[in-house]
Amino acid sequence: MARLVIRGGTVVQSSGSKKQDVVIQDGTFQTIADAVAPTAGDRVIEATNLLVLPGFIDCHTHFGLNTGKMQTLDDFESGSASAAAGGVTTYINFAPQQRGESLVAAAKRELERGKSSLVDYALHLSFGTPGPDWVDELAQVATMGITSMKVYTTYTDTIYYTTDWNWYRLMERAAELGILIQVHAENDAIVDGATQELVSQGKTSFQFHGLSRPAAAEFEAVLRGIALAQITNAPLYFVHLSLPLSVTATRRAREEGILTLSEVCPHHFSLENSVYLTPDARRYIMTPPLRSRAEQEVTRQMIADGLVQAVGSDHCGYSLPQRGSDMDFRTASPGIPGTETLWPVLYTTLVQSGLMPIHEAVNLVSYNPATIFGLIPQKGQIAPGYDADVVLFDPRTHSMLDEATLHSRAGYSPWQGRELYGKIIQTISRGEVVYENDNASDRFGRGRFVPRKTFDRVAVSSALNL
Ligand SMILES: [Zn+2]
Repeated sequence: MARLVIRGGTVVQSSGSKKQDVVIQDGTFQTIADAVAPTAGDRVIEATNLLVLPGFIDCHTHFGLNTGKMQTLDDFESGSASAAAGGVTTYINFAPQQRGESLVAAAKRELERGKSSLVDYALHLSFGTPGPDWVDELAQVATMGITSMKVYTTYTDTIYYTTDWNWYRLMERAAELGILIQVHAENDAIVDGATQELVSQGKTSFQFHGLSRPAAAEFEAVLRGIALAQITNAPLYFVHLSLPLSVTATRRAREEGILTLSEVCPHHFSLENSVYLTPDARRYIMTPPLRSRAEQEVTRQMIADGLVQAVGSDHCGYSLPQRGSDMDFRTASPGIPGTETLWPVLYTTLVQSGLMPIHEAVNLVSYNPATIFGLIPQKGQIAPGYDADVVLFDPRTHSMLDEATLHSRAGYSPWQGRELYGKIIQTISRGEVVYENDNASDRFGRGRFVPRKTFDRVAVSSALNL
């Protein structure tokens, strides 16, 4: 295969940015050097004035989600096309364990479905109700390269809910196997109580979605998670933290030697809860819900201060019609599309605004998730031997987001009409262009499953300065 030379751009590495050329051979990075002279037969991409970023890793997606009650419109095809358009060259999708299904069966099913992906992918499992052989199953899925698993402390009437007893037992076992436990932290009794109170007052419209999931619900479940992490001496990763209080709690825990990691999502630091009072409320139905403007500001500062380890989209491609016409927050399937806007929103909100340097923002969606989720030394850096996953990004432009241009079948975006800075010019996956000129490639099925290493506490702590 011909060499590919990306010339004249500014390469953004985990430690900083530098004008350099990048040589790609056979799908991997070969050389990163000051000035590479192309030879006959090389393919050359001129990247003058462009930033050359490592392909993004969206560590939180729900493509092809089937809850048993509702199915997202996005499958691995449209989800991965949307990812490619957003510069995401690897996503880690959640494979939900259905009722009565073994973890191994859930993993195999999702591996099969992932075969239609445009870009590379890995899998997390979500752990519902353990079957009789769950301990053996854990070891098996770890050998399959699935080394993280999510529990939900809420949604009691669904496939997701995990009791505290099962969560506790899982953490004990997972730590021995190098499986990282992730938690959706919301106290179910508090959510249920708040919901019942609203219902008794006739307050069931989407306007009340946020009030049905108060801060106390998240914060309590975060503290419970920290308690379990301490008692089991197992690391714990919090998905989509929405509150500065929660992020602070995880920092305090780390200071006490309890390894807890925080993930936040773009919506929680760029959209505020006043949108629930508008007729557009249904565009913002996700859990945990949006918080106040003041909380968002603090969250942004905390990210800039390095207190957050990863940013993921929590992409969940339900359409607005699927959300239901009765506008009752209890019946709406929560989730918003976001993988395609992951970087544009992160860049606009944190880099363009001057809060943090670009390489630190890039780390939140490349080096850090690659480190936490066992993808080093294959993904997450522009370095010799790594998969040649690259995003060419033009920081000089800005435009208003038009949701009609997005690739998700959800058909809308919570950031519709937002001014977003920069433009993704090209996305390259293992040396192959999968997105350019506003078009995603249709070479579905070229994406590969990436087996991940087990969680290495010492390596992660030192790489992320925890
Ligand atoms: Zn999620």
